[in-house]
Amino acid sequence: MTFLILSRLLIVVVTLLVMEVAVTLFHRHVMHGFGWGWHASHHHGGRALAWEKNDLYAVVFAAATILLFALGDKHAPLWWVAFGITLYGLLYGILHDVLIHRRLPLKWKPRNVYLQRLIKAHYLHHAVKTRENGVSFGFLYAPPLDDIREELRRNGPRR
Ligand SMILES: [Zn+2]
Ligand SMILES: [Zn+2]
Repeated sequence: MTFLILSRLLIVVVTLLVMEVAVTLFHRHVMHGFGWGWHASHHHGGRALAWEKNDLYAVVFAAATILLFALGDKHAPLWWVAFGITLYGLLYGILHDVLIHRRLPLKWKPRNVYLQRLIKAHYLHHAVKTRENGVSFGFLYAPPLDDIREELRRNGPRR
């Protein structure tokens, strides 16, 4: 019994880690690559409570996860992978859309060092409005801020 709970917990934790790496790569190479058509809306303004074309990514990911849950009904480990992905999506939504971009009217300003670094790093990501020369593509992990600023300097003046 304990083994079952531990193995499921392990699946969820590993899924969260794999998701962060996969989403960082996806953001860097797809959203800032051939998928820029959808993602550009997110780098060009974007008002609270308004829908962006970029939200289509969330719709696609949600649909894929629902499919995985359906498959997981027959293969239990897969169900827990789907659960881990859902948890990642939830964390992403709270951090990226609510805390960073304030798409919901929430006043909470975190003092937590990790959260502050995450928020500032993502603002630096948005300092670049173009498809190229982006920095800090992760959502649950951000490199040290000085490293990001150094990378911005190296990439040259912003357009
Ligand atoms: Zn981006
Ligand atoms: Zn953003």
